[in-house]
Amino acid sequence: MNLEHKEREKQALQFIEKVTSEAAEVQSAVLSAILERNAHTEYLKRHGLNGRTDKASFRQCLPVITYEDLEPEIQRIANGDTSPILSAHPISEFLTSSGTSAGQRKLMPTISEEFERRCLLYSLLMPVMNQYLPGLDQGKGMYLFFIKSEAKTPGGLLARPVLTSYYKSRYFTERPYDPCNVYTSPNETVLCPDAHQSMYCQLLCGLLQRHEVLRMGAVFASGFLRAIRFLETHWRELCDDIRAGGLNELVVDAAARRAVLALMPRPDPALADDIAEQCRKESWAGIIARLWPNTKYIDVIVTGTMAQYIPTLDYYSGGLPLVCTMYASSECYFGINLQPLCPPSEVSYTLLPNMAYFEFLPVLHHDSDEDSAASSSSDQDDNVAKKKIKPKSGKSKAARVPDPSELVELVDVKMGHEYELVITTYAGLCRYRVGDILRVTGFHNSAPQFAFVCRKNVVLSIDSDKTGEEDLAKAVRSATAGIESSYGARLIEYTSYADTTTIPGHYVLFWELRSSSPIPKDVLEECCLAIEESLDSVYRQGRASDRSIGPLEIKVVKPGTFDQLMDYALSRGASINQYKTPRCVKFTPIVELLNARVVSSYFSPRLPKWSPVRPQWANSNGVH
Ligand code: AMP
Repeated sequence: MNLEHKEREKQALQFIEKVTSEAAEVQSAVLSAILERNAHTEYLKRHGLNGRTDKASFRQCLPVITYEDLEPEIQRIANGDTSPILSAHPISEFLTSSGTSAGQRKLMPTISEEFERRCLLYSLLMPVMNQYLPGLDQGKGMYLFFIKSEAKTPGGLLARPVLTSYYKSRYFTERPYDPCNVYTSPNETVLCPDAHQSMYCQLLCGLLQRHEVLRMGAVFASGFLRAIRFLETHWRELCDDIRAGGLNELVVDAAARRAVLALMPRPDPALADDIAEQCRKESWAGIIARLWPNTKYIDVIVTGTMAQYIPTLDYYSGGLPLVCTMYASSECYFGINLQPLCPPSEVSYTLLPNMAYFEFLPVLHHDSDEDSAASSSSDQDDNVAKKKIKPKSGKSKAARVPDPSELVELVDVKMGHEYELVITTYAGLCRYRVGDILRVTGFHNSAPQFAFVCRKNVVLSIDSDKTGEEDLAKAVRSATAGIESSYGARLIEYTSYADTTTIPGHYVLFWELRSSSPIPKDVLEECCLAIEESLDSVYRQGRASDRSIGPLEIKVVKPGTFDQLMDYALSRGASINQYKTPRCVKFTPIVELLNARVVSSYFSPRLPKWSPVRPQWANSNGVH
């Protein structure tokens, strides 16, 4: 590492110390800067701020909102209204969140200067890592990054995921050389729009440079495991290419082809043989450490629902450290992990006070439906495992309107308490509920550190899909309507389970049915598909386009199974008055109880429909 680079690292660490030591001051400055620049926006004027930039007026005038409250403004921006509605700076594009509203991805307005804020956060990650694992500048990172499809709003703004926006920007493609951030994947392979070709090329490049690889990663654990599965299916072709010094003709993307071929100047049969020898072995335990022997850690998010993948990652990696470096969203990038080598269960993120103005809505356990919902999704079997009050329905969760005076500031959160994150961003979101529940685990200087507890109201997730109890109930209702009328069938009870023993993982629904006549196999398979068709666009994209979610499965269980489930819950201390069937299970004994009573199982026979373009935007995207 040269001197100039060392100096940059030092400055990055000093920056973290400074903003975390002056968290209160930085937060106040961020809030007044946002209110000042956006003083003339329609939104702040409408709420009577009248140019005031002080905290008291802000707290008094501005309501705490959800995406649905902003939808009329978002629609106007999407339709081409360029007046300063939410932000004084022009909206440069929409970032499409994996959170949905009415079945479609939420559209987060952003402004171009946000790139710099995101890059600033990225620039802190390796200086933090290098404190614990020096020498990462001596090799490369094998990161599997992908772009996703984008669409245009009727007003002509791009709508795409935040990472697609970043990879396509000059901030990524023209990034200055940094010895700690040299990747095995050429930009052209990341930017290849075909996910299959992109994955093939990136794995090939990673294999070609296997001895230089010091760390590996993907954004989420699910994506990393998808790459391992792809390798399991395609290692022979990859080895053939390395042996021949050529590239499979199925890779037709010209730029990606050129970039990969430039890395393989000659046939390398010895390398191909070494790789094939490892891949041919029956057990793939520790395959990562065997194929990439110098890898020191795997950089993937395994907090939140991704924790379900830890055992599988451990199996393939041979127990390499799993490192969660950052916590971010389409709305705003939030913070970083200052102890990146800690075990996944202890990961805490320090919110960087310069990124946005943060407020926290206390989660009051037992006091309301919403609050118990928040904690219940991190332990979805709490009906059984703990005596907690379960939410009555997803509806009441959305309905709770918080009293703005309940909100606390970043530096005032209390150790051990849980909060819902509320943000005010430079791009114009004001007191916006992100939907994440965080628990305070400590402080770095005066900035709190948070464990990610859960996303509110999510029961099932395989990749970036986030299916809530209510959406699931609606999908199940839509699927059972047909069998009710044709077969006199009645769904007595159901629950669900995210099965991650398959790669990709898939949703499993346990159904207890009563019917007057037998229901044919193909009819139940169509029920699987009907459920998929009625789930939201992020789920259907995961199934149909990204192939990051496997076909949904219905497992029909013996009559009386759900009574036994209740008996089990009561035997573990649940109260009979409060008991209600959990709509999602993950506690192993319960999953085993259900699986032991399965009489037949059915898979979705086809991919559900999905299009990158929303139906209402079809004309502006040339689709008729
Ligand atoms: P998106 O809006 O699609 O960018 O997704 C952002 C959401 O992903 C966040 O609000 C969190 O719910 C989740 N998320 C992002 N980073 C992490 C993390 N490090 N750990 C757990 N969940 C995360």
